[in-house]
Amino acid sequence: MLNKLIFVINCGSSSLKFSVINPLKKKKILFGLAENFNNNNSYIKWTFNQNIKKKKFNTKINHKIILNYLINNILKKNLLYNNIIAIGHRIVHGGEKFINSVIITDKVIKEIKKASIFAPLHNPIQLISIKEIIKILPNLKKKQVAVFDTAFHQTIPEKSYLYALPIKFYEKYKIRRYGAHGTSHKYVTQVASKILNIPLNILNCISCHLGNGSSITAIHNGKSVDTSMGLTPLEGLVMGTRCGNIDPAIIFYMYNELNIKIDKIYKILTEESGMLGLTNITSDFRYIEDNYFKNFKIKRAVNVFVHNLAKYIASYSILMKNKINAIIFTGGIGENSVLIREKTVKQLKILNIFIDQKLNHEIKFGKTGFINIKNSIPILVIPTNEELMIAQDTFKIIMNQ
Ligand code: ADP
Repeated sequence: MLNKLIFVINCGSSSLKFSVINPLKKKKILFGLAENFNNNNSYIKWTFNQNIKKKKFNTKINHKIILNYLINNILKKNLLYNNIIAIGHRIVHGGEKFINSVIITDKVIKEIKKASIFAPLHNPIQLISIKEIIKILPNLKKKQVAVFDTAFHQTIPEKSYLYALPIKFYEKYKIRRYGAHGTSHKYVTQVASKILNIPLNILNCISCHLGNGSSITAIHNGKSVDTSMGLTPLEGLVMGTRCGNIDPAIIFYMYNELNIKIDKIYKILTEESGMLGLTNITSDFRYIEDNYFKNFKIKRAVNVFVHNLAKYIASYSILMKNKINAIIFTGGIGENSVLIREKTVKQLKILNIFIDQKLNHEIKFGKTGFINIKNSIPILVIPTNEELMIAQDTFKIIMNQ
């Protein structure tokens, strides 16, 4: 039975990921991706009934074109269209307003627009897609739900979200820590609660989402109490191409002494730093893992990555108060990199966290499981599923409407 499907839309700056999900069966019925919008290599690729299909556009495209194609040529043709009861949109920034997912109304649209200053590459495009859906599917106008990356972190206390800047920058301009990857951290926390058989409201864990962008979140009593990304996703851990934490004075040094223009500095920090910057070769952890013993630059970069991650885990352990119920690894690197998990956990002996080599080698490629030895604090690998989380939130809200 196909009925009651949720259409999940995740717009990036020049890409669009989509899926059609049965939220009750937790099953992806159709999923795919359109990318390379700004050049002649643009395409859309999707999987349905285990068949992979691809359509090349060979021209510049945009989100509106793709949404029309997706609905009229893919969903309608595959007879999924009539079963879609609601649409879940991933929204990168919800500012301080949204602590949960919400039905999209005119008021919500205004707030997403306001928060665009903190996510200029994402929020405006996500608004375009919401408005386009209203045009293509007017009957589902009131069945659109916004699921915010920032919402899960709205429980973090003042002491964690305030920067030590003159307070007017928070009070007047709302400059503070918002965090990101909230949907992923929330999802793996819920899965951990089930696996560990510990009710969510008393679960304490540290969730490491390690992908191209990486963030770590301290979860106390099921709620986010601190997270490494800040006003934007540039702060925190060393990432694929983002620098993570640096001394802010470096920016002034680059600008004043090295005469680098401000836009270029931003590009360096966001696109040319992190593992790519340190290795001067790649940000791809598959290559990094394969060449760890062969290339000293790669080894050095991994050491920096692991050192930062382990420091965060150790510092977040004090936020767990009485007990850490689990350390969770997720995201492309967290789910698959045996090397990163092993090297990170090796730094955590003082916290009674020890890895089991055999399990660490076994749990990858989409598997869920423990990778700790018997008397250690549990270490869980949980593949993230942000789309399912969005579909489930959307379904819950629509059913309670
Ligand atoms: P995004 O943040 O774009 O969603 P992902 O969560 O997909 O990123 O993670 C991408 C990262 O995961 C890349 O650095 C990639 O090299 C790494 N990765 C994927 N598969 C493996 C693997 N088998 N071993 C090591 N790293 C992997």
